[in-house]
Amino acid sequence: MIGGGQLARMTHQSAIALGECLRVLAGSADEPAAQVSANVVIGAHDDLEALRTAAEGAVALTFDHEGVPLAHLQALEAEGVQVRPPSAALHFAQDKMAMRRRLSELGLPVPDFVDLSGDVPAAREALIAFGDAHDWQVVLKAVSGGYDGRGVWITSGRDDALAAFDANAGGDTILMAEEKVAMARELSAMVARSPFGQGAAWPVVETVQRKGQCAVVLAPAPGLSEESAQRAQQMSLQLADELGVIGNMAMELFETVDGELIVNELAMRPHNSGHWTMDGAVTSQFEQHLRAVLDYPLGDTSARSEVVVMANILGAEDAPAMSMDERLHHLFARMPDAKVHLYGKSERPDRKIGHVNIVGLPGATVDDVRERAERAATWMSTAVWTDGWDPHTAS
Ligand code: ADP
Repeated sequence: MIGGGQLARMTHQSAIALGECLRVLAGSADEPAAQVSANVVIGAHDDLEALRTAAEGAVALTFDHEGVPLAHLQALEAEGVQVRPPSAALHFAQDKMAMRRRLSELGLPVPDFVDLSGDVPAAREALIAFGDAHDWQVVLKAVSGGYDGRGVWITSGRDDALAAFDANAGGDTILMAEEKVAMARELSAMVARSPFGQGAAWPVVETVQRKGQCAVVLAPAPGLSEESAQRAQQMSLQLADELGVIGNMAMELFETVDGELIVNELAMRPHNSGHWTMDGAVTSQFEQHLRAVLDYPLGDTSARSEVVVMANILGAEDAPAMSMDERLHHLFARMPDAKVHLYGKSERPDRKIGHVNIVGLPGATVDDVRERAERAATWMSTAVWTDGWDPHTAS
């Protein structure tokens, strides 16, 4: 496993149940997965020698992020390492421009886009032509290296778009621009694909973003028509097949105000939009990723309940004086059904440090389950009950 973050940590949890121990390449011993694996290689994910050391004797090599340079992966593949997903597929998760091009070649719906990788004056002209043609509904993006909204500039008109371009063009960042989609909401269609060619799709979920990162996931996406859900699953399965993905793939989608589905992003690894599966689906995304990478038959992706909600625990602006341990005590006292997953990370503002899953009981409404999940996550972040609950009077 290349990368020692929470995705690696939770994949390791699933590996234990399958009788495996992940060897983790982590930047330091205190990273979330390095804390829990007995087999850690300390090194950088962009250091070929460190990658070779981690891959030595491994059945397969996989990732918890998209940051490994493609050339290194190609070198490892040439040396016989089973890189999963393979570099030829991962390329499309690393490079938004290549992804947009490939998806439009395959006839999948994507926002209009323009390549701004050329020399700066020509790229600026291209941006002006694109902006004029799209009423300056423009999102500027770094082609690679962005995550959780970093490297995405949602602009508010010509001056703002050109200012964002001028501030970011010409350096190491390669830019593209795309049409700002008038969206009703964001969805994620997660699938897994094995080398054998088996594919499996989880229910399509709604992802609620705050400050450019995922905050809440509603599973399944409330009110999504059966037809749209199936179309999203089909697009995701077919794309995983066309690209030769091995392991999980999350296809992030926009549902437009007209009910159309447009593909935004691809991630080829376990993904935040799949955390609900740990408690809410027959097979969690972490186990499925391992099954796919190890070419086992894939697991049942059915939801265990009609409503499951995941809320991220994000570091508060000011970390509360109450310890995480005490917050957990209080949460469990109030909500015995809340399933908490903590990543072993220190608290910093807006940092993903854990998540809460609530699996709705029969008849529960999505609004109720969501309110409870968000209340639990906010409590864990801030030590404040959003409804003013007093643990001493229990009211
Ligand atoms: P990241 O790689 O950081 O996840 P994304 O490309 O997913 O970046 O963009 C982050 C967020 O920015 C999206 O979740 C969405 O809310 C918004 N966004 C991105 N592209 C567009 C677009 N074309 N139109 C409208 N909003 C967008």
